Amino acid sequence: MNEFQLIARLTQGLPANPAVVVGPGDDCAVLDLGVPGRQFLLKTDAVVEGVHFTAETPPEKIGRKALARALSDLAAMAGTPIAAVVTLALPPKFDPDWVATVYDGMNALARTHGVAIVGGETTTNPGGRLISIALLGWATPGQIPLRSGAQVGDAIFVTGTLGGSIDGKHLDFEPRLAEGRWLAAHFAPHAMIDVSDGLAGDLRHLLNGAGVGAALRKPSIPVSAAAKARARAGTNAKPALLAALTDGEDFELLFTVAAGDAVKLVDGWKQPFPHTKLSCIGKIVAGTGITLNDANGSQKFNGDGYIHFA
Ligand SMILES: [Mg+2]
Repeated sequence: MNEFQLIARLTQGLPANPAVVVGPGDDCAVLDLGVPGRQFLLKTDAVVEGVHFTAETPPEKIGRKALARALSDLAAMAGTPIAAVVTLALPPKFDPDWVATVYDGMNALARTHGVAIVGGETTTNPGGRLISIALLGWATPGQIPLRSGAQVGDAIFVTGTLGGSIDGKHLDFEPRLAEGRWLAAHFAPHAMIDVSDGLAGDLRHLLNGAGVGAALRKPSIPVSAAAKARARAGTNAKPALLAALTDGEDFELLFTVAAGDAVKLVDGWKQPFPHTKLSCIGKIVAGTGITLNDANGSQKFNGDGYIHFA
């Protein structure tokens, strides 16, 4: 059983109440707490030693990453963060300086984005170190892009470049909060998600959420310099394009807008975000799955992104 099968099993018949606007299955839950002009976003995310970081990872980068992952999910809902609580699981013999330095990294990023750290929990765990962050944020009702809204004919966009994140970006990425809010305010993306498991895997979430397919233009997929360098050096068995499609932890925004807005979006993007690449990589089509097209023809792409316990 992989993580998506497990999630499907666990999320059947969960308790709900009238505050729930969007329950499990999107980047954050959306709650209506009766505050005019605001809905609230709730998210939890964990980093685990041996999966998301190693004993060699600088601890300040581990703390930064733990919070940045949750902020990236908030960005995908066009949210503004408010506050976080932190759960630490530590082996019985832990290094207090290591923990303090994890907090230094987390606190610095929190200050940048106006996030208050308002408490948490520490517990012992003989199996290894884990940092879990629960994050609260808010967004404007009617301007919260979900995973399920893609429409046939939509243009598909992605921010930044993709692949080879393991060479550093997974510790240093900037959550696209300003970009997410700007997009929601100006272009009302029909669907949006952050790319955490890989372009193909996360695009499939959008496709499955709307019962549609995608036709991607191969030369338009923004392959990162890191993915190209890895392919050249032979450090990755994957060709660079495949790395861009399937490597995890890029934390870019993947979204769809009405085709008629695509040119306006590309033009409008440059002024607020001159240093963030924006690529139109294809379009939403009737059908299912992902098709890759180039001058030589088209092929179905059945590869996937990173799946935990696949
Ligand atoms: Mg996400």
